[in-house]
Amino acid sequence: MAQGIPDEVMMNAALIKDLAEVAKDAALLHGVLLRIQESPNSSELVSFAPFALFPSPVPRSVFLQALAVQTHYNTLLDRVCQDGDFLQEALASTIAVDDFTARLFRIHQQILKEGKSQSITLGLNRSDYMLDQGENGTPSLKQIEINTFAAGLGGISSRMPEVHRHVLKVAGRLEESRRVLDNNPAAGLAGAIATAWELYGSDRAVVMFLVGETEVNIFDQRCVENELWKRNIHTMRRQFDDVSRSGRLDEDKRLFVDGREVAVVYFRNGYTPQNYTSEQTWEARLLMERSLAVKCPDISAHLAGTKKVQQELARPGVLERFFPGQPEAARQVRATFAGLYTLDMGPEGDKTVAMALAAPDRFVLKPQREGGGNNIYGSEIRRVLEGLKQSSERTAYILMDKIQPAPLQNYLLRRDGPLQLSSCLSELGVFGAYVRKGESMVLNQCVGHLLRTKSSEHQDGGFSAGVSVVDNPLLV
Ligand code: ADP
Ligand code: MG
Repeated sequence: MAQGIPDEVMMNAALIKDLAEVAKDAALLHGVLLRIQESPNSSELVSFAPFALFPSPVPRSVFLQALAVQTHYNTLLDRVCQDGDFLQEALASTIAVDDFTARLFRIHQQILKEGKSQSITLGLNRSDYMLDQGENGTPSLKQIEINTFAAGLGGISSRMPEVHRHVLKVAGRLEESRRVLDNNPAAGLAGAIATAWELYGSDRAVVMFLVGETEVNIFDQRCVENELWKRNIHTMRRQFDDVSRSGRLDEDKRLFVDGREVAVVYFRNGYTPQNYTSEQTWEARLLMERSLAVKCPDISAHLAGTKKVQQELARPGVLERFFPGQPEAARQVRATFAGLYTLDMGPEGDKTVAMALAAPDRFVLKPQREGGGNNIYGSEIRRVLEGLKQSSERTAYILMDKIQPAPLQNYLLRRDGPLQLSSCLSELGVFGAYVRKGESMVLNQCVGHLLRTKSSEHQDGGFSAGVSVVDNPLLV
C-alpha cells in the first residue's frame, strides 16, 4: 500500500530547513498568497498563505467517496431550497431565539410572498469532512458541515498541487509527488458562474463580487474572478455600502450598481451578523434578493446552509423525502452524517441535554454562526447547557457528535512562525456547483477539493481564523 512521507525525510532537520525555504518561494511563485495584517487593504506587501510543508495522507477510498457524494449533496441542497415548508418547520424554534437567522428568514418569507423574480439558481458550496477513527480504526468520512455562503479557498487550493509536487521533487520523493492530484476548483466555480451568466443572457451585464471592507484573502477571490475574465465575462468588486449608495432596480427588476447591470451577485461577505453594520446593509441585501440578478447564494440557500437545517436533515426519513425513488442517493448522503441532535424544547431536546452533560467531551455544541471560532467544546458545553437547559434559548444551538480523526505529523508554515513538527488534524472539503433554470438542472458537478490542516491542540477554527493552513491530500 502507498505510504505517507517517510521518517527519513520528516525527521531530517537540515533537509526540512532547506525545504521550508524552497516551499515558501514556490508558494509565492504559484500564488498561494495572503495580504498581511499590517496592510489588510493593500497588495503592495503580501505574504504566502499559511500552508503545510508536506501533503497529508488521505485514504483513497474515503477521498473518492467524498467526491462521489457531492452531486447528491448539490441535488439535496437545491431541493431543500425549493421547499419553503421544510425550511419553515426546520427553523421555527431557531428563529424564535436567534435574531440573525430570524432576520434572514423574514427576507425569505417576503421573497416567497412577492414571488421569485429569477428562475435561474446558482449554487456553489463546499462540504467539509473529517475522517473519524471509530472503534475499529478504519477511517470513515463524516461531514462537519456544508457551506452554502462564501465557501472559500477554491482559488488558493487550485495553486497548491504545484507547490507540494515541487517540494517533494526537491526532497527526492518523485513517486509521492505523482500522488498529489490535480485540482482546480477556481475554474469549476467560475464555470458555473459563467453558465448562470450566459443563461441570464445580457452581454453588457457583469458578475458582481459582493465583498467586505477588508479582504485579506483577496487572492483566493481573484483566482475565480480571473477565470471569468478569461471567458471575457466582466467582474466588479463592490460592498454593501456601494449597493446602498447606487443600487437600483429598473421596471423589470434588473439590478444596476454604479450604472452597470448585474447578472450574478456572488456573495463573499454577508454570512455573519457583523457584516450587517446598519439598516442600510439589510436594505441592500433585500434589494439584491428581489432583483432579477442571479444570487449565489440566494436567501433560501443561505438558510439551507444553517446548522439547524443540517441537524433536521439527519432525522429519520427526511433524506428519503428529498430523494424520492433514489434510495441509493439517500444512503450515500446519510453514510457521511455524524450524530446530530436537536435542542428543541420537549423530551427529545431534554434527552440531548442530559446526554451532553453526561459526556461533554464526546460532543460539539454549535450556534447558527459561520466563519470559525463559534463552537463550544468540553467543559464549556457543560457550563453553557447548565445555564440554558430549561430555557428556549437552548434552541439557538444544535449538538453534534465530535469527530475524532487520527493525528498526523506535519510542519505548518506561517509567516514568522517556528519551524516545528506538529501533531495535526486535517479537514477535507469538496466543492460542488450547480445551476438550475426553472425545472431543469443545467449543471451539477463536483469541481474540486481542499485539504486544510491544523495543529491538534486547536478544537475549532478555520483558515480565516488563523488556525488551519492549506494543504493537499496525498492519496494512500
Ligand atoms: P464554521 O461555520 O464556524 O466553520 P464548523 O461547523 O465548520 O463551523 O466548525 C468549525 C471547526 O470546528 C471545523 O472546521 C472543525 O475543525 C471543528 N469542528 C466542527 N464540528 C466538529 C465535529 N463535529 N467534530 C470535530 N470537530 C469539529
Ligand atoms: Mg466550517
